Amino acid sequence: MEPFQLQEQPIPHLVIKSWQKLVPGLNVGFSTKKGGVSKGFYATMNLALHVNDQEEDVISNRKMLTNALGFSFDAWTSAEQVHGNHIEIISKEKRGKGRLSREDAIQDTDGMVTNEPNILLTSFYADCVPLFFLDPVKKVIGLAHAGWKGTQLKIAEKMIETFVFAFGSNREDIHVAIGPSIGQCCYEVDGKVIQPIQSTFSFIPEDIIFDKNNGHYDLDLKKLNQQILIHAGILPNHIEVSSYCTSCDHHLFFSHRKDKGKTGRMAAWIGLRKDES
Ligand SMILES: [Zn+2]
Repeated sequence: MEPFQLQEQPIPHLVIKSWQKLVPGLNVGFSTKKGGVSKGFYATMNLALHVNDQEEDVISNRKMLTNALGFSFDAWTSAEQVHGNHIEIISKEKRGKGRLSREDAIQDTDGMVTNEPNILLTSFYADCVPLFFLDPVKKVIGLAHAGWKGTQLKIAEKMIETFVFAFGSNREDIHVAIGPSIGQCCYEVDGKVIQPIQSTFSFIPEDIIFDKNNGHYDLDLKKLNQQILIHAGILPNHIEVSSYCTSCDHHLFFSHRKDKGKTGRMAAWIGLRKDES
């Protein structure tokens, strides 16, 4: 079953409703390209500052979205993603970083983890794989950006280790969702991508890399991350995989491939809202 449900109002976005039942106050989801004020290539809900969109439009979009999710804009926290595997633990002091400018964002970071309420972790996508993490027992949340490089650098496994070693999570308690991203249907790559992946992972089931016998391959990044997570000790029934393809489902999403590089970014988010007493 598709873990992400489309919610049209007040701004079209996708949410994982089943996780809201695990932890009251949790909001976890993924934006669509609809409902914002950006123009041109970025029309209309571009949420990233690094793609040459008008800054004030991006900030307006971010404010509208946080408002729709019931968070204060001060909670929006983001990093400068570099296709690496560095993970930052987001303490209270880092709350709100990167919401207004790239310079202020958490630098060189593709994964964020926190156990603080009222922090909305966010990251940006146009085909790469968003990974959402939740330990409902220890109330720890995380978000990681995994393109082919982050996947090959095992950011998924590193996130699990951060939960375990920094927050005392038990692996069997952790839930992971693999979000909307480019599907194997639309993700053709060459040997430059396949060779490092094959030399890193010994356990790749055959269907993850479809060899077209012409130097090109169709790669299933969602399934590869699913396998990495199972090898990291996550229960298979705690891993949910979205079937949305950012290229096929072009009416909903920006796609770096489909839009030939000139496009906006969706945001993934996870945050635990708690009323201040
Ligand atoms: Zn597709």
